[in-house]
Formats: sequence, structure tokens, C-alpha cells
Amino acid sequence: MPELPEVETVRRGLEPSMAGERVSRADVRRPDLRWPFPPNMAERLTGARVERLRRRSKYILADLDTGESLLIHLGMSGRMTVSGDPLGQFVHEHPQIAKHDHVILDMENGARVTFNDARRFGAMDLLDTARAEEHPLLAKLGPEPLGNRFDEDHLVAAFEGRNTPVKSALLDQRIVAGLGNIYVCEVLFRAGISPLRKAGQISPARVASLVPIIRYVLNEAIKAGGSSLKDYRQADGELGYFQHNFRVYGREGGACSREGCGGTVKRVAQSGRSSFYCPRCQR
Ligand code: ZN
Repeated sequence: MPELPEVETVRRGLEPSMAGERVSRADVRRPDLRWPFPPNMAERLTGARVERLRRRSKYILADLDTGESLLIHLGMSGRMTVSGDPLGQFVHEHPQIAKHDHVILDMENGARVTFNDARRFGAMDLLDTARAEEHPLLAKLGPEPLGNRFDEDHLVAAFEGRNTPVKSALLDQRIVAGLGNIYVCEVLFRAGISPLRKAGQISPARVASLVPIIRYVLNEAIKAGGSSLKDYRQADGELGYFQHNFRVYGREGGACSREGCGGTVKRVAQSGRSSFYCPRCQR
């Protein structure tokens, strides 16, 4: 499932074709994805200008000049790709509409934005821009890990007295928004903290050390265009390549990459998800 770096990469890829541009035609090709689309979605999008394209956690929000925002969630297998040449006045070459192309936005600049989702766990909704933070998908989200509200004091306070494993605490979207399984495994390896350790039993200094590591791992992953494991693609159709920088994720049985450790990467199931870690250097 795309996590924050993948969603941010897609947002950055869409921005040049969408921000400041008007939707000349919206083609909504089925009534729903994970949930039904909002009523009259195509009509509400057609003619609207995208004032800005932003991200909250794993959601992309296109703020429109109609006072509404289009919320986009890629789900498990959702892709948003751009075709056509936004600068070419007469060339509007687009690939043939494919089987799982569910929503197509033709922009006035000639670009076409296609939402393709084979498994249909993705979602789109229209909401009042002014009340976006009250939307059920956004209302309970904690601070953005790359934003100013996420800092050492926040994380130390959130972990205090918490009896759940640190892995679950970092996946808790109320504590920090946008982290998923892959990046939590990678963060905990770099911090030398076992995913099994109870959050409330880690010293405040070690908890605080997670903050810069989280920022570093996410920023490196964004620079690499995200991680492509199964379905994820950037907006131009290219793969991300941060999966080549994985130190533990998917490396069960491999030698620990920490110099001088000599341990072996292990996989354990936690809350139905795989945690990868080195039992020798992650304590
Ligand atoms: Zn190790």
C-alpha cells in the first residue's frame, strides 16, 4: 500500500499538470471505488480550477475554486498518471482507455490525469475545503511527520505509559500520520529499537531519536520516488526505487547490514503485519 513517500511523489508528479489549471472534462466511469463517489462528481469537477494540490497523510487534496476539495486516496493499487503534453497546443495524444481507468480528468492545458485502480480499494470524495479537517478520513489524524507540529516532545508524550509495541505506536495514525509498515520497519532498524519493545518502556532520549530518523527515512524515500513493490508507480509511470535502500523490509534470512553486527534479519507477525528486524542489534 502506498505510504507517505509514494503519495507525496505522486502529488509532486501531478502538480505541474493540475495546479492552477481548470478541469475541462471529468469522466467518471463507474459509480464507486471502495465507497460510492459523491453525487454528481463529474459535474462538480467540470469547469473547476485546481487552486492547489496538497497532501495530508496518505491523501491528496485538490483544492478547487468552487470551495470544494477533491480528496484522493490511492488505496492498495491506485495509480494516478499524467499523459499528454501540457504545452502542446494541438497535440493531445493519450493512450487508449484501459480496463481499470475509473476517473479521467482532462485539464484545459491538454494534460490528462487518469485514476486507475485494479483492486478498487482507492477512494475519491468531494468536501468543503473550509471544513476539510473534519472529514471522517482526516479528522483523527495526528501531525504530519515532516511538519513542525511533529517533534521530540510530541512523540515522547505520545509514548509515555503506552503498553503497545513501538511498531504499533508508530503505525497509529493519531500519533503520527502517514507512516505504514515498510517505513516503520526501516525507521526502527536505523534507530536500533526492536519493533517488539513496548513504547512506554523506551527511554525518552531514544524515543526522541526517532524523530530525526523518521524525517530522514521519509525524505530519502521521497527523493528516490518512493518504493515500488507491487502496483505503485509515479505519476509519469516510472517506478520508485527506494526498495533498493531497504535494510530490513523483505530481507528475512539475510545478513544484517549493520557493520560488525553479524545478525540475521528476522520476520515476526505483529497485528497481522510482518515486522522485519535484526534481533541482535535492535533492542
Ligand atoms: Zn544487526
